[in-house]
Order: sequence, then C-alpha cells, then structure tokens
Amino acid sequence: MSNIMGYFRKSKNALEKGGITLKNITEEKVRCPICKSYETRRAIAKQKVTCPHCGHHFRIGARTRIKALCDKDSFHELFSNIETIDPLEFPGYQDKMDRGRAVSGEEEGVVCGTAKIRHQRCAVFVMEPGFMMGSMGSVVGEKIARLFEYAAEHELPVVGFTASGGARMQEGILSLMQMAKTSGAVEQHSKKGGLYITVLTDPTTGGVTASFAMLGDIILSEPNATIGFAGRRVIEQTTKKKLPEDFQKAEFLLEHGFVDAIVPRTELRGTLEKLLRQHGRKE
Ligand SMILES: [Zn+2]
Repeated sequence: MSNIMGYFRKSKNALEKGGITLKNITEEKVRCPICKSYETRRAIAKQKVTCPHCGHHFRIGARTRIKALCDKDSFHELFSNIETIDPLEFPGYQDKMDRGRAVSGEEEGVVCGTAKIRHQRCAVFVMEPGFMMGSMGSVVGEKIARLFEYAAEHELPVVGFTASGGARMQEGILSLMQMAKTSGAVEQHSKKGGLYITVLTDPTTGGVTASFAMLGDIILSEPNATIGFAGRRVIEQTTKKKLPEDFQKAEFLLEHGFVDAIVPRTELRGTLEKLLRQHGRKE
C-alpha cells in the first residue's frame, strides 16, 4: 500500500519524473523513450508536451498543463496556503518535500482553482507529478475536498487531472483517510447535481485510483497512461498468474469499461469544451 510508485515504471531522467514545466522549456534536446528520436524541450512543449514524431505524452507539470488547457489569464488559484505539519515527524520527509518544491516549483502535490476552458467556467484541480510523484498527503486531500465544496456552493463543474503514486506513506494513516474525505466531497458535489470529469494521466495509481480518480461522471484518459491500484508485481505474486502485457494501460481499461474515452492531449481542450457545454448547467 502507500507510496507504491516503486512497483511501476522507473523513471531514469528528470524529464520523465517531473515532466516539462514552465521553467525548463529550453533548447536542450531530450530523447523520446518510445521512438528514441531527439527533440528540443521547446519543440515538445509546443506540441502540448507530446513527442512531435510519435505522439508520446511526456509528463507535464501542473502549471504547464493549466497554461495549455485554460483560457488565457482565466485561472484563479484557490487554497494555495495549506501546509502539512509532518504529523509523524517522518525521517527525511522535510528533505523530500524540499526536493519536490525545487523540482516542481509547487508547494504541494496538487494545484486547485477556477478557470475557463473555451469560455466554459469550471473548477479545476491538477496533480503535480514533480512533487513527490503527486502522492496524496493530508494537504492534497484537503485541497481537493475543499475544491469540491467550493464547486458545489458555486454550482461549478469540476475537471480534475490525476497523476499520483498513491497515498503518501510519510503521513501514514492520515494519507489513507484522504480517500474517504475526497470521496465524500465528490458525493456531496454530485448530490447537488454537479458534473465531475476526471482525466487520468500517467501514472494514476494506489489510493488516488481507489478514490476520487475513478469517481468521475465521465472518465477520460491520456493515451498509454498507467492506471492501476496495486502494482503488476504484487498482483502477479498474489494471484500466481501472468498478467497481459498491456495490463493497467489506459487502452486496456477502455476495453474493459473503466475508462470512457482516451483523448490525446492535443484534443483535450476541444473535448472538455464539448462535454462541459453539453452536460454543464445552463447559465
Ligand atoms: Zn517519440
């Protein structure tokens, strides 16, 4: 349980770990892990952080995604002032958070706010893969729960981007409690008639998959994203069965009914606009 990223694909370089962020868009060339071609970070960023040759979706920082997704200057951040108190005084936790802040430029594993996507007003949360792999501690849970409460009060749909290694083991049981808290907040928003769209991105795993990531009224995914609860090795060892090669990939989940559609990043704005327009409240 807890932070189970270790069971998934290991990232060798910072580009894969934290993705392309607003800070590191440079002329430096990086290699696509799929088609092995070299391209500058700037060229990749121009294609909404996908490979210009094969379409591979690189990991993307929360701020970069917000910039690529929302109408210009429409994003207003909420709940940015909540900090963890390191409840267990877990050894090395502060250092890890400092590193996460340095890599991602964010204070925590999720960014929340309100925005417009092609003129459609909504509440948005975007998880930050560069901050401790978007792991869910009490701050991440609290910010997401508050966003749903805010959206329910202001009659806004919620669009949420998940990217997480699961619950944050450094906060122990308090991390696991966030699953119930966020799920409860989603339920309250839903009871008031609010629309909730999730976009699963690589990777969405552990306690995040087991709570708000899979509670969307409409569940979209980026291509080739790893989505699962426990890791492949754990399941294979427990069941003593070999799993299919594409197990826990977005395409496999689509085939088996867990995902409604796979949408490439370059088409996301258009798809979300359509869904928000069709299902959202009338002004
Ligand atoms: Zn490529």
